[in-house]
Amino acid sequence: MRASSCGGLGFSRRFAPPETLPAVMTTFHIAATSLHRLRRRLLAAGPGVAAEILQDAGFATGEAMFGSWSDRVSDRTGVGDSGQLDAAWFAPLMADLCTNLGWGTLAVDTLGERAILFSSPDWEEAEPGSTDHAGCYFSCGCLAAFLTAQAGAALAVLEVECRSCGGAHCRFLAGSAETLAVVYDLIAAGRTWRDAFTEHELPV
Ligand SMILES: [Zn+2]
Repeated sequence: MRASSCGGLGFSRRFAPPETLPAVMTTFHIAATSLHRLRRRLLAAGPGVAAEILQDAGFATGEAMFGSWSDRVSDRTGVGDSGQLDAAWFAPLMADLCTNLGWGTLAVDTLGERAILFSSPDWEEAEPGSTDHAGCYFSCGCLAAFLTAQAGAALAVLEVECRSCGGAHCRFLAGSAETLAVVYDLIAAGRTWRDAFTEHELPV
C-alpha cells in the first residue's frame, strides 16, 4: 500500500500546512460524496494532483476547525487557551469534535514522544474499495493545520492506512516532517509504518 503522499515524490514540507492562513472563515457542511467526486476527478488529472490540491484545500478547513475546537475546549473544561489543555482531555475532546462535525469515530494514541496516531473505522472521506493507495488527502491537510495550530509548532500528517484501499481503518500519523519522512520511506520500501516505532511506543 502507498501512503497518501503520492508515490515517487518523496515526503516533503508540502504535507505540512502553510505558515499563514486566513484568521476568520465561514464554515458550512458539504456531503462526503462531494469529496469523493472531487478526488476521483483529480486522480484522473495525473499523479500527485489530487493529493496536492485536496491537502491544500484541507489546510483551510483545519484552521476553521481549530476555531470550533478552541470554543469547545473553553466550554467543556474552562481552559481559555487550548494550548494549555491537559493531555488527558485531548483524546476525548478531539474524538467528540470529529464525531460532531461528521468526520467519523476517532481513537487517539500517542506513540512515545514522537508521533500521534489517529485511527477511525468509519472515516467519511474514505471510499472503500475505490483505489489502491491511501486517499484521504483532504483530511491530511485538515489535521495538519489543526494540529499545528494546537501545538503552536509545525506538525505534518501522513495517512498510513486507509479504508479506500482495503484497510479496516484510516490511520493518520502526526509528527515532525523528519519523523514522517522515515515512515514514508519505510512504506515506499514495502514495509509497514509500524517498523518506525518500538514495541513500547506502539499501542496495544
Ligand atoms: Zn482514509
